[in-house]
Amino acid sequence: MIDLISLLNEQNVPYSDHGDYVKIKCLNPAHEDKNPSMTILKKSGFAKCWSCGTTYTYGQLVYRLTGQSPLKNFEDKQNFRFERTLKDSVINSKTNFEPKERKLKIRGELKNPLQNREVLHYLRSISIDKDIIKNFNISYMLKGYMSFNGSDKMTFISNRICIPLYENGKLINYECRDYTGKQQPKVLYPRGGKSDILFNYDNLNLNEPLYIVEGIKSALRIYKFGYTNVTATLGASIGKGQIGLISKMAYPIAFPDNDEAGERMLSQIEKSTQNNLYVTFMNQKGYDPADGEEEELLQALSSYVPVAEYYIKKYPVFREPVEWEEKLLPEEEKELSKLDKLQAEKELSYY
Ligand SMILES: [Zn+2]
Repeated sequence: MIDLISLLNEQNVPYSDHGDYVKIKCLNPAHEDKNPSMTILKKSGFAKCWSCGTTYTYGQLVYRLTGQSPLKNFEDKQNFRFERTLKDSVINSKTNFEPKERKLKIRGELKNPLQNREVLHYLRSISIDKDIIKNFNISYMLKGYMSFNGSDKMTFISNRICIPLYENGKLINYECRDYTGKQQPKVLYPRGGKSDILFNYDNLNLNEPLYIVEGIKSALRIYKFGYTNVTATLGASIGKGQIGLISKMAYPIAFPDNDEAGERMLSQIEKSTQNNLYVTFMNQKGYDPADGEEEELLQALSSYVPVAEYYIKKYPVFREPVEWEEKLLPEEEKELSKLDKLQAEKELSYY
């Protein structure tokens, strides 16, 4: 899908072709590179300078060179709309593995929220109505214990709404959220539950626009507005299984919280997508999709932009993404370590 050679030719960037990768002079303006030290993998477009350590994802490379989003570039050049490519990308299965059955051990009773005024009041305050309670099988617990897979210790649950998490129809975790406003932590997961999953997993359509938010609360609010193809990562850090799933989405739209953790989440998601990521934020600093007025949310839902465009606007002077270096995808890591070895051999052969 990426066309690195055309990009370099169009931008008059001298390069040497080495089969799976090319070498160019480092693009970091702070690095006066006399010999080409920057390696770019042809398949993923991932770039790394062996001398100063600067790395770029393909999206970053494109806007470093052109000041434009790779999506725009791609659309213009191919002269077709991005949506067309979505239909062509057929996704056969969501995962390559069968999740293990997790046995829920429970002491105490999961009750119906419709029968408790305090719980219902809380649920209403976070936009959870009867339909959502039913669709997501939400219950609550006054006092009790839960754990998965018979782990010795159980997690104490008191005064929490309990949202089950499923994968391929199997119960694999519960999110237990305080409804009194007095408990810490606000959200608890019983011991032994699986967390490297995506909320609403069984109902996601990977071929359609799909919103990715951090918290279930945010996801459910978006869901309530009719955007039902929405998932949550259960926190700002993204696990390997989640990365695998996100990489299969044809039209992912990241909607992180508008804070630093949200920014970090965005860069992690960006690395797991095929340069097809869109992004949007709540306008106000510190807000997540569960905050603010309805119009603010609707506005944010409809005003997503390609992630590269977002970065251009946010960082008019390009920010060197050196700190992202550690977060390589496993395949990139493998390919780069192969190149690392080649590089070392080459250097040895000078002696
Ligand atoms: Zn460099």
